[in-house]
Amino acid sequence: MYIMKCSMKENFSRGHLTNYGNIEISPSIGVLNYGQGLFEGLKAYRKPDGRIQLFRPEHNALRMQAGARRLRMPSPSVEQFVEAVKQAVLANKRWVPPHGKGSLYVRPLLMGSGSVLGIGPAPEYTFLIFASPIGNLYKGRESLNLLIERDLHRAGPGGTGGIKSITNYSGVGIKLTEAKAKGFTDVLFLDAVSGKYIEEVSSCNIFILKDNVISTPATNGTILPGVTRKSIIKLASDMGYQVEERNVPLEDLLNADEVFCTGTAMVVTPVASMTYKDTRVEYKTGNETVTHKLHATLTGIQTGVIEDKLGWTLPIN
Ligand SMILES: *Cc1c(COP(=O)(O)O)cnc(C)c1O
Repeated sequence: MYIMKCSMKENFSRGHLTNYGNIEISPSIGVLNYGQGLFEGLKAYRKPDGRIQLFRPEHNALRMQAGARRLRMPSPSVEQFVEAVKQAVLANKRWVPPHGKGSLYVRPLLMGSGSVLGIGPAPEYTFLIFASPIGNLYKGRESLNLLIERDLHRAGPGGTGGIKSITNYSGVGIKLTEAKAKGFTDVLFLDAVSGKYIEEVSSCNIFILKDNVISTPATNGTILPGVTRKSIIKLASDMGYQVEERNVPLEDLLNADEVFCTGTAMVVTPVASMTYKDTRVEYKTGNETVTHKLHATLTGIQTGVIEDKLGWTLPIN
């Protein structure tokens, strides 16, 4: 793993690689007591020729910087972040699965690691990266059955829904557990103000397709601005679809032709059904869908099968 520390008044300057293992921390550190922490997630892919590449890692760096500003933390520069990811991946090269068999999931963390008893920013910060090989979670065949959550919201206006704060996830876990117990894959959250508009799933963004129009909720602070989301918006526009970032009312979701979720882990995954109260709506899935075409294009670029004309990939060896 890669590790780099700095004090509150400094900037990150130099980190180093070390063996994966436990880290020693004081019980009074900021992240444990007040949740001063962010995570990121990206993947390293093996191309058909065996070389390894990253996908738009600078966007993860920028998102970590935005989150750090919100949580009063210093953050690595984009260059430091990308260099650290490169070093961590190259040090774990043998764990990057063969082309087509999966990827190396890279997990950067930024946390208040200094002791702080009163509520406030910690005096010291740690940036850390670890990694794990993963299989192709969703191969484009699987699909999601989502339950629309009406009582609990993952984010509200002025909150931290727009940053990858560690505090955003365990609070909604209870609804995820309940939904899974009923046979659903995940939950879809609605906006906290009116409950009329769709926001996102617990860890991925959502898109709907109706005729030639693809819509996704606008990022206004309550939705995580996904790198996959941004990439799909661009790819879909380039393919000739009309792409709209807007408030998406529940009715539009229930009347859509196709629905899909996007995120680093799930890439582009079709939604087979959506359940709201006692109503269950089904959507088109399979090889003939726009969702399938977007999945194939994005994974093709990420794994080096389709020529990257947009400069999104970064070869690292
Ligand atoms: C990470 C995350 C996403 C997806 O972001 P990507 O950059 O595409 O991986 C979407 N929603 C939430 C809540 C997330 O934490």
